[in-house]
Amino acid sequence: VTTTFATAATVDEALAALAAGARPVAGGTDLVVGARQGKAPLPESIVAIHRIDALRPIEEHRGGIRLRALVTHAEIVASTAVRERFTALADASAIVGSHATRAQGTIGGNLMNASPAMETGGPLICFDASVTLQSVSGSRTVAVAELFRGPGATVAGADELLVAVELPEPSPDSGSAYVRLEYRRQMEIAVVGATAVVVLDGDAIADARVAITALAPTIRRVPRAEGALVGTSGDATAVAAAAAAAAGGSAPISDVRASERYRAAMAEVISRRAIEVALERARGRAVPIPASGSRP
Ligand SMILES: Cc1cc2nc3c(=O)[nH]c(=O)nc-3n(C[C@H](O)[C@H](O)[C@H](O)COP(=O)(O)OP(=O)(O)OC[C@H]3O[C@@H](n4cnc5c(N)ncnc54)[C@H](O)[C@@H]3O)c2cc1C
Repeated sequence: VTTTFATAATVDEALAALAAGARPVAGGTDLVVGARQGKAPLPESIVAIHRIDALRPIEEHRGGIRLRALVTHAEIVASTAVRERFTALADASAIVGSHATRAQGTIGGNLMNASPAMETGGPLICFDASVTLQSVSGSRTVAVAELFRGPGATVAGADELLVAVELPEPSPDSGSAYVRLEYRRQMEIAVVGATAVVVLDGDAIADARVAITALAPTIRRVPRAEGALVGTSGDATAVAAAAAAAAGGSAPISDVRASERYRAAMAEVISRRAIEVALERARGRAVPIPASGSRP
């Protein structure tokens, strides 16, 4: 099969290419690396979007922030707005692949690749983020929580380009964390991951979000874990109950990276750690980014 390759200079050029059947490539760390490793052949027609400057910035947006599709993991980690107000997202991007993967890999590619083990999904779901999908016939907004249909599949049409990710204004008394279990420090894919966002009202937890990663066909929130935290002081008993509920919300798969039993046991440990770090940050204590690297 001959692969045709074009480079778009504008969003309109990219959308026209998609309408004609091309697949977009941003950093190429999934699409091109996957093809080289024989996971999937390269599509017949590809349009490179990495030169579209309009898709590059991180912007303040209605009290929250907007990340255009080409924002890289390295740029997310370097952003003060993300580190201070959406810390779990910085935790996530900071552990994607290697230094090279983070310099090259984009937020748009991470989301559209839709791996159940991908790092940024849990934080984005817990922050109520949404994406803007654009095609030649118009644009629409989809919550990240509704974006994933299954492993490797999104609700986006083949002619739709993800152009932006929007994160609404967070509550001032909140803290968040994303933690994954790791066998080694670099070049790792999540075996088990957990996100926690807590909002404090004085000493009590007024609101909580808990999501689990790589523990079900798609990343998902666990309302029972959230319910175990709300109204408590975030004491050890409440945190343990929430972590157990998070593990109970998983539908783990067995694969080459871990057995089902091991994943379920680790889900509780990792969820507890994410909740503890989110609480520490909400109470104003600095926990280094990424939270996965910092040990209690
Ligand atoms: C060695 C290595 C280690 C990695 N480690 C991790 C890890 O730890 N955690 C993790 O989450 N990921 C990891 N990845 C996966 C990958 O690096 C990330 O998912 C990255 O963010 C993908 O971004 P990209 O721009 O390179 O995507 P690309 O490869 O360019 O694209 C990925 C997919 O998304 C589509 N796409 C890209 N941009 C758009 C857009 N704007 N609109 C619509 N569709 C689009 C492409 O058509 C393709 O199907 C790793 C990859 C490698 C090679």
